[in-house]
Amino acid sequence: MTTFDPRYRTATLLVQGGVERSHHGETAEALYLTSGFVYDSAEQAEATFKNEVQHFQYSRFGNPTVSMLEARLAMIEGAEACRATATGMAAVHAAMLSHLKTGDRVVASRALFGSCHWIVSTLLPRYGVKTEFVDGGDLAQWRAALATPADMVLLETPSNPMLDIVDLKAVADIAHAAGAIVVVDNVFATPLLQKPFELGADVVVYSCTKHIDGQGRVLGGAVLGRQKWVDEVLQPFIRNTGPSISAFNAWLLLKGIETLALRVDAGCRAAAAVADFLAEQKGISRVWYPTRADHPQQALAMAQMSAGGTMVTFEVKGGKEGAFKVMNAFRLIKVSNNLGDSKSLATHPATTTHMRIGAEERAKLGITDGVIRLSVGLEDVRDIQDDLAAGLALLA
Ligand SMILES: *Cc1c(COP(=O)(O)O)cnc(C)c1O
Repeated sequence: MTTFDPRYRTATLLVQGGVERSHHGETAEALYLTSGFVYDSAEQAEATFKNEVQHFQYSRFGNPTVSMLEARLAMIEGAEACRATATGMAAVHAAMLSHLKTGDRVVASRALFGSCHWIVSTLLPRYGVKTEFVDGGDLAQWRAALATPADMVLLETPSNPMLDIVDLKAVADIAHAAGAIVVVDNVFATPLLQKPFELGADVVVYSCTKHIDGQGRVLGGAVLGRQKWVDEVLQPFIRNTGPSISAFNAWLLLKGIETLALRVDAGCRAAAAVADFLAEQKGISRVWYPTRADHPQQALAMAQMSAGGTMVTFEVKGGKEGAFKVMNAFRLIKVSNNLGDSKSLATHPATTTHMRIGAEERAKLGITDGVIRLSVGLEDVRDIQDDLAAGLALLA
């Protein structure tokens, strides 16, 4: 496949990793909008299906634009192999369902993206997979749950929306001793701030919809893992069930990745400044940001992440009414359930992304009615702060 030297540094890989030029020598990655491919002969088609020659067959199994995206993501992550999918949820679903069977056991951290939570709580038990949630930050709960053999551990760190941190190395050790593979949803950290494979993860999943596109244009996902697992477990599932990504979306994601480091770096600096600013404001009862001194897991966050990320969560006084008042006053910050965008976006998790998990589960996760999740964008940070201040002034 690609001949690009994977030992280049990350910023270089983000721009040039995985490029496969056609005979035209195009500068930008070519967009191959084709469902199928033709062969020189019936013999070549036969040899392709026997895996004796490398030739694209059908875009559900593989496509040249998609494979450039996969090669680039694998290089950045330091993974042996990658498969891109149509959405982040298709990636999570494929990673889990390709590996699991009836009678298996899954242990997951409770603080998961809403749809990941649904797969574990509702979908898997339908197929006879036993599932159990633990508080991800509590190693004693992981040890207790994994005292019984298990097949898979799923976790997210930092978590959505409360930015809880899970100790990746410690949980991976406990999971491996129980016989489980460890699947990490690394969306909030991005491929740049946290390297789960170096800390013991077996599989890493992304919603590329978030920072990798980063500009609110397309959905996409990715699963990364060892070559053998991807070839023998994941690829047959993708090939035969079809969660494949459009070449057009893969092409946009390739262009998005080129500026990922610039955007994430600027977003982290702005988010840290916004978190410090919010902590000083009246009308706020609490701020969560992984690298702030008042985050209960600051030391762990700083040990396993190179920066705190682009998300800030805060709780306003006055519950839902207070939160809605503040959000409705924003002029620059947009109300949206999306995140990781160049535009600053505010979410009220209790009534949107985390409505369906119910009040009891929300209480366990600390998602109160006053909690607002802010995805800090690329606007001038002073304008973001002014917008927040104008909203919060209404609570005084
Ligand atoms: C958005 C998101 C997903 C799902 O990705 P989609 O592209 O929306 O399907 C999964 N996990 C996390 C942490 C997310 O933020």
